[in-house]
Amino acid sequence: MKYIFFLFFFFSACSFPEEKTENQLPLIVLCFDDGNHTIYDLALPVMKSFNYPGVNYIPTGLIDHPGSLSLAQCREMENLDWETGGHTVSHANLTTITLDSARSEVRRNYDDLVRMGLLHHSFALPAGHANDEVISIIKDWFPIIRTSQNYRYQIPLNLDRLGYFQVQNNDDVNSLMLRVSHGILENECLIIFGFHSFTEAQSTFLTEINMTVFSEFLNRLKQKKLRVVTLSEAVDRLK
Ligand SMILES: [Zn+2]
Repeated sequence: MKYIFFLFFFFSACSFPEEKTENQLPLIVLCFDDGNHTIYDLALPVMKSFNYPGVNYIPTGLIDHPGSLSLAQCREMENLDWETGGHTVSHANLTTITLDSARSEVRRNYDDLVRMGLLHHSFALPAGHANDEVISIIKDWFPIIRTSQNYRYQIPLNLDRLGYFQVQNNDDVNSLMLRVSHGILENECLIIFGFHSFTEAQSTFLTEINMTVFSEFLNRLKQKKLRVVTLSEAVDRLK
């Protein structure tokens, strides 16, 4: 009898996340860093089929370079409700250059985005590195800062230090959905995932993700009725 009660409570607890209403579930943000061409060629068509917007963080100095997104592609993605954010001009690690150089990287990055007619609500730190001086410089131009830490989120959000779960080539659908399940169980309001590049073949480096895993992940988000939004929309909704 005791065993039956244990099973009852065990399965009740486990099924709880599935019973939450859409509004109680965390918002999901999908970030795409560094502007590799496979974001447009491979990930975008699948994102489009689910009607999901993403967030592009491309160093503006890389736009229109071979192997990277073009300005026309960045704009096309914004027309599909994606947003673009700052990621410096040259992917500089802002903690290893002088503060004057860091300020120049961030300001020129902001100016480029404005000149190119791209959105600039948030900024992702190249390689995730920052210190308090760098954060304070970025805040002069960008209101939301994303690091590379896999933080847990509750309201109020700390807009100076959001982060992401960096998806790597040893992740599969189950490991990604485990992060989602933890978020639901811990009543997180937001979960941010970060991708870099994609392949239809066997992945050959850490941040290159196989398209079968990516497509199935989006499919599972849809099945769980999770809302995928841009980072600025998530911040707006979670005020
Ligand atoms: Zn980067």
